[in-house]
Amino acid sequence: LIASCRKWVILILLDSKAQQTELEWISYPPSGWEEISGLDENYTPIRTYQVCQVMEPNQNNWLRTNWIEKGDAQRIFVELKFTLRDCNSLPGVVGTCKETFNLYYQETDSEVGRNIRENQYVKIDTIAADESFTQGDLGERKMKLNTEVRIIGPLSRRGFYLAFQDVGACIALVSVKVYYKKCWSIIENLATFPDTVTGSEFSSLVEVEGMCVSDAEEEADNSPKMHCSAEGEWLVPIGKCICKAGFHQKGDACEPCGRGFYKSSSQDLQCSRCPAHSYNDREGSWRCDCEDGYYRGLSDPPSVACTRPPSAPQNLVYNINQTTVSLEWSPPADTGGRNDVTYRIMCRRCSWEPEECVPCGGNVGYSPQQAGLVDTYVSVVDLLAHANYTFEVEAVNGVSDLSRTQRLFAAVSIATSQATPSQVSEVIKERVQQRSIQLSWQEPEQPNGVITEYEIKYYEKDQKDRIYSTVKSRSTSATVNNLKPSTAYVFQIRAFTAAGYGTYGPRLEVTTKEEASGTTATIVSSEQNPVIIIAVVAVAGTIILVFMVFGFIIGRRHCGYSKADQEGDEELYFQFKFPGTKTYIDPETYEDPNRAVHQFAKELDASCIKIERVIGAGEFGEVCSGRMKLPGKRDMSVAIKTLKVGYSEKQRRDFLCEASIMGQFDHPNVVHLEGVVTRGKPVMIVIEYMENGSLDAFLRKHDGQFTVIQLVGMLRGIAAGMRYLSDMGYVHRDLAARNVLVNSNLVCKVSDFGLSRVIDDDPEAVYTTTGGKIPVRWTAMEAIQYRKFTSASDVWSYGIVMWEVMSYGERPYWDMSNQDVIKAIEEGYRLPAPMDCPPGLHQLMLDCWQKDRADRPKFDQIVGILDKMIRNPNTLKTPVGTCTRPISPLLDQSTPDFTTFRSVGEWLEAIKMERYRDNFTAAGYSSLDSVARMSIEDVMSLGISLVGHQKKIMSSIQTMRAQMLHLHGTGIQV
Ligand code: AMP
Repeated sequence: LIASCRKWVILILLDSKAQQTELEWISYPPSGWEEISGLDENYTPIRTYQVCQVMEPNQNNWLRTNWIEKGDAQRIFVELKFTLRDCNSLPGVVGTCKETFNLYYQETDSEVGRNIRENQYVKIDTIAADESFTQGDLGERKMKLNTEVRIIGPLSRRGFYLAFQDVGACIALVSVKVYYKKCWSIIENLATFPDTVTGSEFSSLVEVEGMCVSDAEEEADNSPKMHCSAEGEWLVPIGKCICKAGFHQKGDACEPCGRGFYKSSSQDLQCSRCPAHSYNDREGSWRCDCEDGYYRGLSDPPSVACTRPPSAPQNLVYNINQTTVSLEWSPPADTGGRNDVTYRIMCRRCSWEPEECVPCGGNVGYSPQQAGLVDTYVSVVDLLAHANYTFEVEAVNGVSDLSRTQRLFAAVSIATSQATPSQVSEVIKERVQQRSIQLSWQEPEQPNGVITEYEIKYYEKDQKDRIYSTVKSRSTSATVNNLKPSTAYVFQIRAFTAAGYGTYGPRLEVTTKEEASGTTATIVSSEQNPVIIIAVVAVAGTIILVFMVFGFIIGRRHCGYSKADQEGDEELYFQFKFPGTKTYIDPETYEDPNRAVHQFAKELDASCIKIERVIGAGEFGEVCSGRMKLPGKRDMSVAIKTLKVGYSEKQRRDFLCEASIMGQFDHPNVVHLEGVVTRGKPVMIVIEYMENGSLDAFLRKHDGQFTVIQLVGMLRGIAAGMRYLSDMGYVHRDLAARNVLVNSNLVCKVSDFGLSRVIDDDPEAVYTTTGGKIPVRWTAMEAIQYRKFTSASDVWSYGIVMWEVMSYGERPYWDMSNQDVIKAIEEGYRLPAPMDCPPGLHQLMLDCWQKDRADRPKFDQIVGILDKMIRNPNTLKTPVGTCTRPISPLLDQSTPDFTTFRSVGEWLEAIKMERYRDNFTAAGYSSLDSVARMSIEDVMSLGISLVGHQKKIMSSIQTMRAQMLHLHGTGIQV
């Protein structure tokens, strides 16, 4: 290697000058070329070959080098340095003197013998002197050293010889240098290119792939390449390497980023300082770690600061419109350092049990959506009416789901109010005649209350100016009469609840049958003629009434079995029905009670019923909850009343009697019988499941938690159930909050049907002087006195239920004895309005407790009054202090004004509790102010042991407080 520049290198194969010893090339003939030692221009000793046979003609002197192994060379450079005598300078050589020589080469794979065979040599060129005879500056002739370079190749054998043919010149071969060129290994664009031998052709470029230096990588789709030219020069660099993430370029190498710095990608040029809330303590990092409590979102580049979840939204407000709740809030105070804050809503429906909430599920709609809300408002639609909901609004950003810290949200609990029912769907044509069409349909999926009526709207399809007609029905079926034969009609149905009409369901088109021939004309006309129907029904009704009266007279109040006189007559009841309403049939009129059960109740296969847990104790056995799955139907929750083992035949009859009664009812406010299991053990009565159990206990558990509208909604339901029962001619006899069940939607349903139950089952029932057991506090005067049980006496009981509901399950007449209750009622006293009870409701109670039963409202009227109140909630407002907990167990029409009392004694006298005057004085309660601050514990600590008296005093104190507050604003801390 004799020379290299940055880009290329020359590899010497032969350098005659470099050799100080004899070269020992082959010269032929021996008189020709001669090896002679000399000094070069720098006076360095060199070996030269000379020949100068210029005088002799026909010279052919060969000089052959030693064998030169070519190595990886393909193109060989031959550089000759020589001097050549000018023939003119030599006297007497004209004709023989030459001024050129020839250069040859012979390729071989190894050394060959010392003989020179001329024909095996390939001529490279004839070499002439360029400047052989340069005139010196002073005019003298000066021998000049010539340099000539020739290229040979491509070579294919392992080596070669060079040969110089002299044909009669005077030459001194000063230096022969044989070399080839390489592109020298190089680092370019962070890629290493190895030493590369040039191509064989003059014009060829050798393409070379670069290798990235350590910690560098090829740029995508741009791998580094260079081209080695024939001249050994690197040309045309393409592509490049770049330092990997965590490393940056320094010169031709990649160095790691320092601590506190990072480089996230090879594309970045420089290492950067860690962004806010992040750090690293390693060299060569591609990113920085977030500080505790800070996170990087999944799509956050490493260059952005670490952030944290936002704080909770602020100022959450809501607005309820029927079953739609609108929520609005302000953005969180702290966005966590991000600008991608959105909001999500968590909706949970809560039962009236505290803490028992379940996610709202897919039936609830969100507008614009539930999560990913950009704006600070949402509407939640399709909620259930009369239900409790909790909404949590959470602000979320790109790191919320990464954070393990506690969620922060704003929450509200909301109770939805009344809402109109959803659409009636699945309308089925049951029977199509020439002039009538019978339709049936399913209750809307979301009744949102108690459906009291359906409206069927219809019109002739082809009639130009559509004239609508409507028909109303209380049940989920109706027959539309007076239609034209062979005519297409369009029907639509909507449901009505206390909240008003729902929207109409889809249109159903039905075409009546073709006109029949003359023979059936009479039937057709009877269908058409309502007078005839009424006549038929009236006859049937009379027959039924006869039987009912008969049944009553013979006085069997048991669901008994008797060889009575109406064998086969029950069929009669079912041939005729009162329009709209069925009539209740006393199961005792059946000779075979089993037949009664199966007439009214469906026999269920025990395998369809799964008992899960015991929820109560009934008279005949345990009451359980469980599930029922009928073929082709959805699995449902049910309550199962079982008949305990070892029962007598009479017990079995009495037990199933309830089913025979319940099975006749079909109303949303009357507990629904699913069926019975009589063929198998245990004998079971399967009833719809009422999640919240009996109303009295339910109210006591949720004392004060409902709005007046909600309470009135419950009362409305009970009244509607009772209207239905009374319309059917059924007298309940034991209507009380404990005999009303509540489902998860707060729908109340009348239950406890059993003719004997009033007497045997109800713990409230006591023996009266008239004989038999009676729940005195709930029962009307005439029923107690002479057993006159009617729907009007049920109305009295209903008034008591109203009082129970409005006082959240308070015991009617508190702890007064039954005897005292009867006496007080006879003397004209009535229960006072419970606390916070709207005066209109109390008035309705008082009406229910009219002495003369004819003066009491009918259930139909009660439902109407309650509906009106629900529609005008203003009528349900209670002026502060005007409607209070009773100060006297019996109605004292005027509530005393506590602010007029001057002393504790005066107050005690007014509430007829003056016997405790000393107790108050002894305990230091000398002023009304101090009394107004008393708690129930304080009252008890005075030594007042009678619960009734404690309650009376306490409720009076509460009223006193309310009045004082009203008067003085904030006078008393409650
Ligand atoms: P009963 O024998 O009807 O008085 O029922 C006894 C108890 O069982 C009731 O007080 C209720 O707590 C419970 N119960 C009865 N029927 C049902 C029902 N359909 N759904 C839920 N619980 C019920």
